[in-house]
Amino acid sequence: MSLSFSPESVDLPRGHFIGGKMVPAKGEMPMRRPSDGVLYADCPIASVELVDEAVQAGKRALKDSGWATERPRERTKALHRWADLIEAEAETLARLEAVSSTRPVGQLVDGDIAVTAEQIRFFAEFADKEGSDLVPTASGSLGMIMTEPYGVVGAITPWNFPLSMAGWKLGPALAAGNAVVLKPSELTPFSTLYLAELSVRAGLPAGLINIVLGNGAVTGTALTGHPEIGKVSFTGSTVAGAAIMANVARTGIKPMTLELGGKSPQLVFADADLSRTAKAVASSILFNAGQACVAGSRLIVDARVADALVDAILVLISEARPGPTWDADTQYSPVISQAQIDRIDSIVQTARRAGAETYAGGGPLDSAGYFYAPTLLGNLEPSSPALTEEIFGPVLTVQTFQHEDEALALADHPTYGLAAGVFTQDVSRAIRVTRALQAGTVWVNRYGRSRDHILPTGGYKSSGIGKDLGREAYQANRKSKSVLIDV
Ligand code: NAD
Repeated sequence: MSLSFSPESVDLPRGHFIGGKMVPAKGEMPMRRPSDGVLYADCPIASVELVDEAVQAGKRALKDSGWATERPRERTKALHRWADLIEAEAETLARLEAVSSTRPVGQLVDGDIAVTAEQIRFFAEFADKEGSDLVPTASGSLGMIMTEPYGVVGAITPWNFPLSMAGWKLGPALAAGNAVVLKPSELTPFSTLYLAELSVRAGLPAGLINIVLGNGAVTGTALTGHPEIGKVSFTGSTVAGAAIMANVARTGIKPMTLELGGKSPQLVFADADLSRTAKAVASSILFNAGQACVAGSRLIVDARVADALVDAILVLISEARPGPTWDADTQYSPVISQAQIDRIDSIVQTARRAGAETYAGGGPLDSAGYFYAPTLLGNLEPSSPALTEEIFGPVLTVQTFQHEDEALALADHPTYGLAAGVFTQDVSRAIRVTRALQAGTVWVNRYGRSRDHILPTGGYKSSGIGKDLGREAYQANRKSKSVLIDV
């Protein structure tokens, strides 16, 4: 059966999800569908009082259910039941996600949603396996490092992969014995609301997951500054991450995981397999129209193979077929909003006015929705915003180098250090370059995540603090207590 659907047919959940039920709310922020620009819903803004209600619901759920204190295997079992239901309801989740976001429905069921369920299962298995430590002390004492959940975790997610990002936050926090109040992006809240509803249907305690809708200024600030939130877990832009740090510093110190922006380089050496490299590079600008934190938006290629590689990439990107996210065959996504189209275009036109060469694209596509042509820019000034700013759109820049040192100097970004790609057949070079790159993730002869959830993800420099995924994400959701007992 085709996954295609009519956007008007989707029944949108209205309001917030607190204490295990929908709490109706007045819509305040108009929402437009990225695929056709149609005004289709209003997002409410949870007030300081409502955020407090959600935090209290989380605290009550922890107290009444014994989520953190009963046998840990019970958490594992409950989270697996939730993952079962996510898989069973994948089509409904996919429609709720595709209608408001840039994610095409055809990529969601077996992609983002299957991966989200898998990651919840991955974290579920830590609950009864990851333990505390006995540490060496003098024989007259017993030293232990006990770990405990924080209580209620405050999570905030961006719009680019709404369900995946919610899964990254909820999976480890819940497995580690916490409750969560999560604020999804005001642009894409619906699939996250339904994800929370499914948790209750799967038997997770009502109030363990609470979803508050709203913007950063009111709802996000109330959540990160709430005195009874034990830990903040945020994914979004570096600017918002900095505002959250300032708010947390003002309102009471608490640990934070911050997954922020990037401007990731892909280094291609002359001995690379060019056809494979072209596919990896092209897909990193085509996938979600470049709206990925790890988008490999800066191609840095050995001058000897630059022309051949650019030609191969141009062929691949010329095959991108834009379409609405509710069409099962769509591969090339819209951009999230008109504001984002304007921002991308302003950076591209600034570069072109300064003499950049446009190998492909260079402007919005003529369509009802927010589509931007896959764009390849070369011959850029080093200070061009196209090279320095996170564009968050389908724009790839090309720079060439003569020597490895020059490649590394170009790759090094003063602000960001999220991910990097290296393409070479020379193992020694691959290891040398990987060690030199200042990035939280380095992919060699591939670009992009696999389904090896044990590999954590996170940034160097202003790309973030702490990790999502991996053992680190579970551990980051528990605090440690040092205990010394004289015997
Ligand atoms: P954004 O920072 O504008 O918003 C992200 C979320 O933060 C939204 O829910 C928003 O309402 C909220 N928010 C904004 N200001 C806030 C504040 N002062 N206090 C509390 N909450 C606030 O980002 P976006 O446009 O939704 O997403 C794109 C950004 O996210 C890009 O920079 C991208 O690189 C980044 N991102 C990073 C990762 C990663 O793993 N490092 C993953 C996905 C996206």
